[in-house]
Amino acid sequence: MTVGDILAFLERFAPLHLAESRDNVGLLLGQRGRSAARVMTCLTVTPHTVAEAVESKADLVVCHHPILFRPVQRLSEDTAEGRLLLPLLKEAVAVYSPHTAFDNCAGGINDLLCERLGLQNAKPLRSRAEPKVKIVVFVPDGDLARVSDALFEAGAGVIGEYRECSFRVPGTGTFFGSEAAHPTVGQKGRREEVAEWRLEVVCDADKAPEAIRRMRQAHSYEEPAFDVYPLQAQGGGLGAGRLGELNPPLSLWEFASRVRAVLRTSGMRIIGDPNRRIRKVAVVCGSGGDLLNEAAQAQADVFVTGELRFHQEVAAEAAGLAVVLAGHYATERPGVEHLAEILARQFPQVSVWPSRREHDLAWSL
Ligand SMILES: [Zn+2]
Repeated sequence: MTVGDILAFLERFAPLHLAESRDNVGLLLGQRGRSAARVMTCLTVTPHTVAEAVESKADLVVCHHPILFRPVQRLSEDTAEGRLLLPLLKEAVAVYSPHTAFDNCAGGINDLLCERLGLQNAKPLRSRAEPKVKIVVFVPDGDLARVSDALFEAGAGVIGEYRECSFRVPGTGTFFGSEAAHPTVGQKGRREEVAEWRLEVVCDADKAPEAIRRMRQAHSYEEPAFDVYPLQAQGGGLGAGRLGELNPPLSLWEFASRVRAVLRTSGMRIIGDPNRRIRKVAVVCGSGGDLLNEAAQAQADVFVTGELRFHQEVAAEAAGLAVVLAGHYATERPGVEHLAEILARQFPQVSVWPSRREHDLAWSL
């Protein structure tokens, strides 16, 4: 078993294209070709988790939060990043971070929270499905490579982790050019039959105008024939955050008590009338402030997340949301433990464990 084998599974389970664009996910340290007999999962790379990984001879650390989130200019014992990462480099421990891909994927952290909180019909709070179109263009043989290159260069033909995706089928086109026409092949003033390819590619709707402009440039016909079809959004089960339902509804007091019991957290901040009836629940692991607007628009009764900034709490209250802040660690650590179980099931020959030294840093009075 190699690091690469385990990463290939992780990339299927939590596809990296589901990560937020600002994120830094994937293999961040190490080599795919190294053998992997021991794998540790953890929430964050800290001096505790690094020491545990080195002492326990982990080959791979699957760390939820990315290391090197911001660019660094040196890795020496004089810098915090260096002190953290040099021991891992020295022992050739690989570090892989799935972060928001794992938050957002089917069966990821937010789905796990919904399941443990007993929420039904959970769906993404912000769907990742972007509007797409299918561009179909009819090209003579000599234009096929040039036109497809032009479409690919404009960003068409991307499906998940694959680019330059297209489908081509040969056929026969017909035309009858008027006296004012200038046909590239055949003659005007009579019906012509021409061997052509039907070339089709998917394209993000916002990239389609540029793709069509480039396609026209690359096409040798005076009037290229092409169609643009809107596509129904795919990947409906995927996206950021979740909105689920409590059936039967609970009071905010009862629901917050359930959150505390399920996440085994002690210090929670709760905003809202304890007697308020809670039916629609928005769930965002970690720091969920970015999704407050979506929760308000979806008319959620309560917003459950790890932490919010003060002004986000004020905005949430003004938008009519009750808020349950269970702590960043408490909302994400269960996902890390769950991921270790998934990996252990998938790779029975590999020793997998969630970090035993990782703990919530804060204590509550
Ligand atoms: Zn987090």
